[in-house]
Amino acid sequence: MAEQKNSNNVVRKTLTYFMPIAWKHYRGFFFCSAVNIVLKVIQPFVSIMMTPLILDELLGSRNIQKLLTYVAVIAIGGTLLSLMESVTGVIMEKYSEKMENYFNEKMSLRVMELDFQLTEDKKALDQIEKAKTGMDWYSGGVYGISMQVFQMISNILKIAGIILLIIFNAPVLFAITAFLLLINTFLNKKKNAIEIESFSRLSKSNRIFSYLGWGIVDFRFGKDIRLYDAKDMMVEKWNSYRQESLGHWKWQADQLLPLNMISTIFDAIKDFFTYLYLGILVIMGKITIGTFSQMLNAGAVFNSAMQGLIWNIQELIKRTNYAYEYVKFMNYPPAIKKGKRPVSDQLHTIEFKNVSFTYPNTDVKVLDRVNITLHPGEHLSVVGLNGAGKTTFIKLLCRLYDTTEGEILLDGVNIKEYDYDAYMSLFSPVFQDFNLLSFSVRDNIILDQTCDEKDLNALIEQVGLKDKITSLEKGCDTMLFKFFDENGIEPSGGEQQKIAIARALFKKAPVVILDEPTAALDPVAEYDIYRQFDTLVGKKTAIYISHRLSSCKFCDRIAVFSEGHIKEYGTHDELVGKSGGIYAEMFAAQAQYYN
Ligand code: ADP
Repeated sequence: MAEQKNSNNVVRKTLTYFMPIAWKHYRGFFFCSAVNIVLKVIQPFVSIMMTPLILDELLGSRNIQKLLTYVAVIAIGGTLLSLMESVTGVIMEKYSEKMENYFNEKMSLRVMELDFQLTEDKKALDQIEKAKTGMDWYSGGVYGISMQVFQMISNILKIAGIILLIIFNAPVLFAITAFLLLINTFLNKKKNAIEIESFSRLSKSNRIFSYLGWGIVDFRFGKDIRLYDAKDMMVEKWNSYRQESLGHWKWQADQLLPLNMISTIFDAIKDFFTYLYLGILVIMGKITIGTFSQMLNAGAVFNSAMQGLIWNIQELIKRTNYAYEYVKFMNYPPAIKKGKRPVSDQLHTIEFKNVSFTYPNTDVKVLDRVNITLHPGEHLSVVGLNGAGKTTFIKLLCRLYDTTEGEILLDGVNIKEYDYDAYMSLFSPVFQDFNLLSFSVRDNIILDQTCDEKDLNALIEQVGLKDKITSLEKGCDTMLFKFFDENGIEPSGGEQQKIAIARALFKKAPVVILDEPTAALDPVAEYDIYRQFDTLVGKKTAIYISHRLSSCKFCDRIAVFSEGHIKEYGTHDELVGKSGGIYAEMFAAQAQYYN
């Protein structure tokens, strides 16, 4: 009972989510469907009403003129209706692609806007996979769902007409058919439960499957796969998950087989009693041969309409259950709190107050009671060994995660109070694991903004990419990588970093962050990049992260992170002279590079 209520709720929620959107954007689809429904309902009645007239005429007065009229109505009327139905059907199908594209695009946008934290959350990733497959061939999308609703309406109208006809001429036939109906409803319900269970089991395998599938064909992994000889491992894993996936399908087929067999047996029993009953009525003289054939015809149409209706209902429940995964994803609860407070354009004071942080689903405090203030325009160098918590500090500052304890204040106000997008626009970070897109150099730097050619060239020169870009035939319009263009270039690690830095500078945000994007460089080259970058940053607030001391000499303040704490904080001169200090020790070890 509770399960029934639940699936009714899912049907209702899914339909109330999709239908108003579809109605708003694709009204023609609904008008066309209304015409299609009417045509579908009328069609079978042409033959049901005309066949007994023809038969009784043949067995009675055999008037040729009347016969011709009846036959003409069936042939011409039936054909016209069928043609019109096909035309409306084709028009409706054209909407299928349009609606699919529309809802896919909405989902892609939502994926890109998803709180960053959720992109590392297994549950959210599973939900994306379920939404994708659920909206795809599992449910047939909004088109597939709407078709079930429309077919349901036309089947209900057909059934209502036929019930009247059967009750009037042969009431027991109605009872026989109703009995079979109950049996089929029961069987279909069982079948649906099995298919839904199977869908849920398959979605995990599908996610792993598609990861492996892309890994194998994605040439970006090509080097690693070859050099580490990971080919066999990839194929082996692929095969093992394929076996698992096939196992789910086999399970589903095994469960469905006995139910399908029972259904066939009951169909045969129903046919037997229908012929027997109608034959007896003719022998007793209660109905004519024409009506006998009409009842068989009506019974067949009733049956198919009823089975169609049950199938539509079950299918609607099933399809909306699949598509509901899309609704759930689109309404996925935010991982972090978002406020409405506007953010001003000027430089800001940022303060970490007793901030502690533990990554979701882990129990290690990565940051522990961190206190630090960053004044407007200050340049801060964050140093510490790998794993000290430096990147996490930046992730919290950029609101990719929310603090577990304590608070971060912007001009004295908790950052959660601010409008999320406006707050994010304050930062131009270049992360260690930045990714460039397989678009042109220009698109990678300016994204969807517009930019004066002169400004772009100046920026390219500033980040030291001028020689590289001028050597390329298409200059800034050269594509990166080979996804979309076989002439796309494969930039070196250093060139990629420069493009990422140009992108960060182009954003013109008041706070610039460089999170060790230079890790691949030697200490001297890294020092040069930081120093040049620092000149470009000018009066903006800047944070430089490194496990080396490249940026420390020209920064206003240095924060030394160790095991989640800020162990030392001050200017270079203050820290370098502190005997036994971490900074002093690191500097002594690396001094050869920076003196
Ligand atoms: P750093 O930038 O100083 O090298 P990080 O801030 O990247 O250090 O990492 C600090 C600690 O947090 C490390 O132990 C790391 O393994 C852990 N960590 C980083 N990211 C995650 C994550 N997404 N989930 C769980 N633990 C993480």
